[in-house]
Amino acid sequence: ITDIRQTAIIMPLAHLPAETDRNNIVLNPYTECLKDKRKQSANFKHIEQQANKFDGGATLWQQLSDQACVKVNPMYTPLTTEEIDKSYDLPYTRMPHPRYRGKRIPAYDMIRHSLCMHRGCFGGCSFCTISAHQGKFIASRSKASILKEARAITMMPDFKGYISDLGGPSANMYGMGGHDKGKCAVCMRPSCLHPSPCPNLDTSHKQLLEIYREVDKLPGLKKSFVGSGVRYDLAMHKTGIQTTDNVNAEYCSELIRNHVSGRLKVAPEHTSDFVLNIMRKPSFKQFYQFKSLFDRINQKNGLRQQLIPYFISSHPGCLEADMAQLAADTRNLGMHLEQVQDFTPTPMTVSTEIYYSGYHPYTGEAVYCAVTPEHKQAQRQYFFWYDKANRPGIIKSLHRINRTDLVRELFPNCQDFHAQERHKNKKQFNEHKINDTKIKAIKQKPRRKL
Ligand code: SF4
Repeated sequence: ITDIRQTAIIMPLAHLPAETDRNNIVLNPYTECLKDKRKQSANFKHIEQQANKFDGGATLWQQLSDQACVKVNPMYTPLTTEEIDKSYDLPYTRMPHPRYRGKRIPAYDMIRHSLCMHRGCFGGCSFCTISAHQGKFIASRSKASILKEARAITMMPDFKGYISDLGGPSANMYGMGGHDKGKCAVCMRPSCLHPSPCPNLDTSHKQLLEIYREVDKLPGLKKSFVGSGVRYDLAMHKTGIQTTDNVNAEYCSELIRNHVSGRLKVAPEHTSDFVLNIMRKPSFKQFYQFKSLFDRINQKNGLRQQLIPYFISSHPGCLEADMAQLAADTRNLGMHLEQVQDFTPTPMTVSTEIYYSGYHPYTGEAVYCAVTPEHKQAQRQYFFWYDKANRPGIIKSLHRINRTDLVRELFPNCQDFHAQERHKNKKQFNEHKINDTKIKAIKQKPRRKL
């Protein structure tokens, strides 16, 4: 059996098609990729584009050796609502596997009173494997199926009245897709949101809002939270269609007022537009807009809630100077970052291809990437500028990268540094004075007669 979707099989070389056609794409051979990383990088573009096709894409082929090739069968098509309901409506026990009996599983504590409303993500973030796992197209459960599960959660013996997450890979993509499905069927874009939201994308949060409100009416339920990451750029996107824009503004308000468990997780990931573009994320300006909306709604409703932003250091394209600027930008927002990570290459992502090959699969351009432990640590340290132990290292680094302007911005109250600075200035002044005196003395010395 050689044609099961979403499987790969090694076959005799005789099966390798002579050239690429509508249904088959012949990738650069494996041995050539080992010699030339540009070829490896170029392969990835085809892999991602085909994996994101609505019909599952073409079959991918690669020559492995003189005798063998690999065949990668097309992906499965997205599940319909009926199909996904069938899977989620099975009589799960909602308990960990019996082998864990008696043991505490922190991950289970976090998810036992949560539910997943859909699969798939059309964000296409370069570092994320979700679309490789679940696809770009959203498969949404029916309202009835979600309510049935929510009701089952409220009846669990240890339920205290709080659903921890009405979530999904991205919390607010439920029920979304293209207005014109025909366009989506032939679409090659890896992201429906980057570089800007697709005009064909229906971004209405109406169905999601209705489900939040229906769930909240269940007896025994005090609050339902959204613990999964929210795409604020999607929620705040202005379509120009008044009804959609009004519903989306209502969604933001409902989310912030009634579904935040004190801290709302969002993922701007960086502050540099250059890096964000490589990450396929929106400009940091949108984070400022969302933060101001978040603060306004909280203030109006007398709520004390926090926005928890996630950031990544050492992402391909990110320089140390970008991290220094990130530290200054987030400091100016009054944030002490906690939810951060240094870039970890994960298979089947654009970012990892860049990390490995040094080239962007879509443009073929060389992209800088911090790969040594020293370079990665040099970037990571900026997250924790507020830790006194990191201060000398950061000051030294800022001098090295010629960003001494940020020293005062990051450490305005740093007495040690400013004392050093004053001391340095005084020393320089004295040296000048000495030089001046010497010069004057030399000038005043009567010339020796020849
Ligand atoms: S046409 Fe637009 S909405 Fe449809 S898949 Fe492509 S980018 Fe997404």
